[in-house]
Amino acid sequence: MASPVNGIKNFKVVLLGEGCVGKTSLVLRYVEDKFNNNHLQTIQASFLNKKINIDGKRLNLAIWDTAGQEKFHALGPIYYRSSNGAVLVYDITDEKSFQQVKTWVKELRKMLGKDVCLIIVGNKIDLEKDRHVSLEEAEDYANKVGAVHFQTSAKLNQGVEDMFLVLSKNMLSIN
Ligand code: GDP
Ligand code: MG
Repeated sequence: MASPVNGIKNFKVVLLGEGCVGKTSLVLRYVEDKFNNNHLQTIQASFLNKKINIDGKRLNLAIWDTAGQEKFHALGPIYYRSSNGAVLVYDITDEKSFQQVKTWVKELRKMLGKDVCLIIVGNKIDLEKDRHVSLEEAEDYANKVGAVHFQTSAKLNQGVEDMFLVLSKNMLSIN
């Protein structure tokens, strides 16, 4: 997946997490700088491409969003296989969505091993007053499993670009 074509490195990145945590919103914010207050069923294609340059290297991220299968617990290895990176999203106002991230971490480590870069993202920080997952708990957990933790608001465009940048640098460092 990461083999260079015309000097461009291609990476596959998957978004995972419960329904409604903001996966589609994060992708659309990052790739198209758009936000929609309504629930977004899915992007049109199964993935969107984002080209970036880091330290003189050209990268193409193929960012895979789900089509909502997570609601039926029907997301399997076909979706995430050969991923270089995974963005595991929870909603900071929803403790259950954080527990779901832990399930994904276990599955990805088991199926893809250590070579997949994991980013755990607490989204919707604009709803701080309704927070149910503490920053400390999430950071401790991420450290324990060798993941990076980030907090974002797709709505206010906070942390989104930084999060994908750190993920890209981590993927570059092992590929
Ligand atoms: P997905 O099911 O995980 O893909 O979630 P969506 O991207 O469809 O978002 C679900 C709902 O959460 C929508 O109503 C979004 O507008 C909303 N949402 C997404 N990100 C944020 C955010 O950062 N802050 C707030 N307040 N709402 C958000
Ligand atoms: Mg979605």
